Amino acid sequence: MSHVFHRNPRQQLDFAVRGQGIELFDQNNKAYIDASGGAAVSCLGHGHPVVIQSIKDQLDQIAYAHSSFFTTRAAEDLADFLAQRSPGDLNHVYFLSGGSEAVEAALKLARQYFVEVGQPTRRHFIARRQSYHGNTLGALAIGGNAWRREPFLPLLVPAYHVSPCYAYRDQREGESQEHYAERLAQELDHKIQELGAENVAAFVAETVVGATAGAVAPVKTYLKRIREVCDRHGVLLILDEVMSGMGRTGHLFACAEDQVVPDIITIAKGLGAGYQPIGAMLASSRIYDAILAGSGFFQHGHTYMGHATACAAALAVQQVIEQEHLLDNVLARGEQLRAELRSALADHPNVGDIRGRGLFVGVEFVQNKDTKATLDPVLKTHASLKKQAMQNGLLMYPMGGTIDGVHGDHVLLAPPFICSDSDISEIVTRFTRTVVQVLPA
Ligand code: PMP
Repeated sequence: MSHVFHRNPRQQLDFAVRGQGIELFDQNNKAYIDASGGAAVSCLGHGHPVVIQSIKDQLDQIAYAHSSFFTTRAAEDLADFLAQRSPGDLNHVYFLSGGSEAVEAALKLARQYFVEVGQPTRRHFIARRQSYHGNTLGALAIGGNAWRREPFLPLLVPAYHVSPCYAYRDQREGESQEHYAERLAQELDHKIQELGAENVAAFVAETVVGATAGAVAPVKTYLKRIREVCDRHGVLLILDEVMSGMGRTGHLFACAEDQVVPDIITIAKGLGAGYQPIGAMLASSRIYDAILAGSGFFQHGHTYMGHATACAAALAVQQVIEQEHLLDNVLARGEQLRAELRSALADHPNVGDIRGRGLFVGVEFVQNKDTKATLDPVLKTHASLKKQAMQNGLLMYPMGGTIDGVHGDHVLLAPPFICSDSDISEIVTRFTRTVVQVLPA
């Protein structure tokens, strides 16, 4: 019997024994192509010598220093790197150890900002029904994933939800993208007015939705319209790029493509690319200055924040990505991945949508392509796809959930940025084989 309290204690797990490039090997030396990068984490694959050396060098210098006594060169250099490349004036980098911690810190910072500037009634958060922001209580409270929230509802602070930007299902026939974006912005505007703008602290959204529905990117003008609504009501905009940021979409910050600058942005997974656990929150000067001029202290903190080993690893990861121009590869291989998936599967009766940006790609499965009726949730198709894919030597991230009473089966593909064109073709071959085995046409 294992003494590890696993996520799913009933599941028999194989051992991940070693990794090499884009492959993981289990205890039987079976190889798996990691086509989801875990969960959009692994950007450089395994065994990158530069990153490993940076970790060794850093550990040779120091094991740990508490962030209330010291800063470290690694933390300062990584913060400089991010601030120089972040949109607008998101220049103030607060380090954490993962995505939920980053979201939690963002919520508290937004709240404290309004206390500092003399608007203490602003306490409500509005998010979207199709969203995942983490598993800690604050992040869970704002998330829209019903089954994850259900047992904990009595513990969650109230949060308010509006529609996601989910063109595949919600853009009306004949409706332009601009009009669809405007309709969603109006919905947010109404929600803010209903709650009273003086009570609303922030609107929180994933720039590109990840863990609830598989790479759902907003239509072109959506985030601009949302930014305008937030500005009109003095509400902060928090963009959660824990999954979609750090180059996953082909841009270091996904919102750069939408030409929108939030007040706070959260990042994690791709930041350390799996070599170390690390996340961060970037805040604008307006927020930072208000804290500085007010109490002078953000009332938050964690023991491992800004850990030097994690910062050194993340800086090495980001430098490799930049020096090797890997974001160009993300864009090119992403196009290839979607194109090859479409030519292999667009005619499959259960493949409803193939979408995404960069190497952040989602496939949505349906019972009927015309009506978009979903597969019966009892079938747990997403889980069968994951299992069958592993048999075929492929790792992909499955999702099945209910949004607005509609069940969905989705798969996320988020392969490492170092994939070659033949790697992508092999992923498509194994993926197509898996789909046809689970859902014979
Ligand atoms: N926000 C988003 C958008 C995420 O995708 C995730 C993780 N899937 C989180 C937050 C939580 O991150 P973590 O699991 O590192 O706590």
